[in-house]
Amino acid sequence: MAGRANHHLSWGVALLAGIVIACSSTALFAAGDAGVAQPVAAEPFPIASDVRVAGDSKQTRFVLDLDRKIDLRAFTLGNPDRVVVDIPQVTFKLPDNVGQNGRGLIKAFRYGLVMPGGSRLVFDLSGPAKIEKAYVLDAANGQPPRLIVELAATDRTAFTKSLAKETTAEPPPGNPPATVTADAEPNAERVDTRPVVVIDPGHGGIDNGTQAASGETEKAIVLAFGLALRDRIAESGKYRVVLTRDDDTFIPLGDRVKIARAQNAALFVSIHADALPRREGDAQGATIYTLSDKASDAEAERLADLENKADAIGGVNLTEEPTEVADILIDLAQRETRTFSSRFAHTLMGEMKSTVRMHKHPLKSAGFKVLKAPDVPSALIELGYVSNKDDLKLLTSESWRSRSVVAVAQAIDTFLAKRIVSVGSNKN
Ligand SMILES: [Zn+2]
Repeated sequence: MAGRANHHLSWGVALLAGIVIACSSTALFAAGDAGVAQPVAAEPFPIASDVRVAGDSKQTRFVLDLDRKIDLRAFTLGNPDRVVVDIPQVTFKLPDNVGQNGRGLIKAFRYGLVMPGGSRLVFDLSGPAKIEKAYVLDAANGQPPRLIVELAATDRTAFTKSLAKETTAEPPPGNPPATVTADAEPNAERVDTRPVVVIDPGHGGIDNGTQAASGETEKAIVLAFGLALRDRIAESGKYRVVLTRDDDTFIPLGDRVKIARAQNAALFVSIHADALPRREGDAQGATIYTLSDKASDAEAERLADLENKADAIGGVNLTEEPTEVADILIDLAQRETRTFSSRFAHTLMGEMKSTVRMHKHPLKSAGFKVLKAPDVPSALIELGYVSNKDDLKLLTSESWRSRSVVAVAQAIDTFLAKRIVSVGSNKN
C-alpha cells in the first residue's frame, strides 16, 4: 500500500516520511485520500529527531526538531551555569554523543527522561547567558515543528538575578499565590536543586471544609498536620518542602495544582479530613485517594464532588479556570503520572497502616480537581472523619499527629528515594 501511495507524494513529504521511517522501524504508513502519509502506529511520545546549535559567544540558538508541538518551560540555574528546558516526555532519537561539544554560549548539552511524562534538556553554559526566547514553532516550509531556545550573553549580575525565573511557552498562570515566592525562593541567589515536595493543606480562609459538631474545622486540623509534616520532612534536608498555604488563607484548587507544576514538584500531597452526614451513618479511619476519571465507589465520588466544591465556596468562578488537561500529550503524561501516584498511595498505605487507623477500604480514586497536575504524582489523604467521635479525638491530638506525620514522611522518603533519576543518565 505504501508503494502505491508514494507515486502521489511530493518530494518534501517523501523525504520527511523517509526520515521518520529511518528513525523508527516500527512506524507504518498508509496513504489517505489526498495521498498524504499518515503514521498508522503513532509513537506514544513526541520524537526529537535532530538538533542544531548555531551562533557565537554573543548569541546562540538551539534548535530541536520534533514531530509535533510541545509545551516547554525554560529557566537558568547557577553553580555551574546552566539553562534547563523542561518538556513533556520525548523519545530522543539523536545521534550518539551529540551534546558533547556545543557552540557559542552552549558548551555542551544533555537530555533525558527525568520523571514519567517529563524530559529535560540541560545546557552547560560557557558564560552567563540569558534566555531571550524559548518557544516551539509549527511545522512550516518543509521544516518539522521545532523547539527553539535563543540565548544571549549577559553579565554575571544579571545572570544571578535571572536564576530560576521561568520562561514559559504556556500562557503564564494567573497570579501565583504569594506563598509560592515566600516559601520557594527565600534567597533567589542560592539555587536549590533538591526534589520538591508540595504539601497541600486543604481549604482555608472562608472555606472551613468539614466541621465537627463541636466546632473543630477541617481547615485548622489539616493546616496543623501540614505544618508538622513540613517540619518533619525538612529535618532530613533531602527535600525542599513547599506548602500551598501555611496560614488560614483560601487557595483555589487550580492554584494548588499550579504551585505543584511551577515548582516542578516531585510529589504533591493534599491533606484533608472527611465528614459523613449523620443520616449516612458513621465511618472512621484514614483514606488515601488518587486521581481517576471514574470514581472507585459512590463514597469516593461523593467526596470528590464535595472537595471540588471548594472553589465555589471560595467564590472562584470556575468558568474562568483554564482547562489544565488540554491535549493528548498531557493525557499521555498523565497516564504515566497516575502509575506513580498509585505507587505512592500504596507506599503510603504500607507506612500508615501500622500507625494510623485506616478506613475499611483505605485506597480509593475519584476525579479530584486538586490531583490533576499532569506531570506531578499526586495523592490526597483524608486523615479521618471529624464526624466520628474517636477520629476527632485523634485528629486533634498532638501525639496522634506526630505519629502520623512520621509515617507519612517515611512514605514520602521511600517513594522519592526510588524515583529520583539523575538528569542525563537515562537517555531516552
Ligand atoms: Zn477537604
